[in-house]
Amino acid sequence: MKITYRRHAFALITVSLMLAACSSGSDSSDTTVPLVTSTTVAASSDTEGVTPITPNGLTATLSTVPASASVSSADAAGLIWMREAEKLAHDVYMTLGNVWGSNVFSNISQAENTHVSAVGTLLDRYDIKDPITSSEVGVFTDPTFTKLYGELVATGSKSLVEAMTVGAVIEDLDIMDLQRLVSTSPDIAIVYDALELGSRNHMRAFYRQLQRLGADYTPTYISQAAFDAIIAGNMEQGPM
Ligand code: MN
Ligand code: MN
Repeated sequence: MKITYRRHAFALITVSLMLAACSSGSDSSDTTVPLVTSTTVAASSDTEGVTPITPNGLTATLSTVPASASVSSADAAGLIWMREAEKLAHDVYMTLGNVWGSNVFSNISQAENTHVSAVGTLLDRYDIKDPITSSEVGVFTDPTFTKLYGELVATGSKSLVEAMTVGAVIEDLDIMDLQRLVSTSPDIAIVYDALELGSRNHMRAFYRQLQRLGADYTPTYISQAAFDAIIAGNMEQGPM
């Protein structure tokens, strides 16, 4: 499994670079379609210790940060990538939540919804064509995500340990992606920081579940040292 995911990591980077090379940076002919209207998510930590970022808080914070004069093609490609990467997390957790009836998945999928929306706000702000054309679970524009969705759901449906491992793998991948996509645009940076904070909390939540099940997790994308530092830390409150 590890080899398969590693191959994906390279594929993700390659595709991102291709997007960066090909993107014109904007497409004003399309309007952004929100994935789901914002839902109310409790600001306090829930019973699983997951602290979703409040959508209103993130939206409010974002509204105080002016848009940059222009968005780089690399940032545009990164936003397009993260929009579907966050939908992947949301969709996989929705599906695995239904398979296993675990609150961890349904709670975290709500947080992923706020992440999808936050990236959507930025796509809208910079008139970048939204890759999400359907809120249907498992539907993506980039075939890389369609394939990943199928593989991750198949793996996560085998056992609860596999399901929690899939959660850890997705967060592992998201953290690597977000660290790679550092932006000098303040509004984009704020959203990426919020997404990464969420991913650290989600990683802690999935790892806690794995430990309860007598299992462990070895990071595939981020370093062992980075993983250890996350796990050693407490659940973090959203900055906004
Ligand atoms: Mn996320
Ligand atoms: Mn997450």
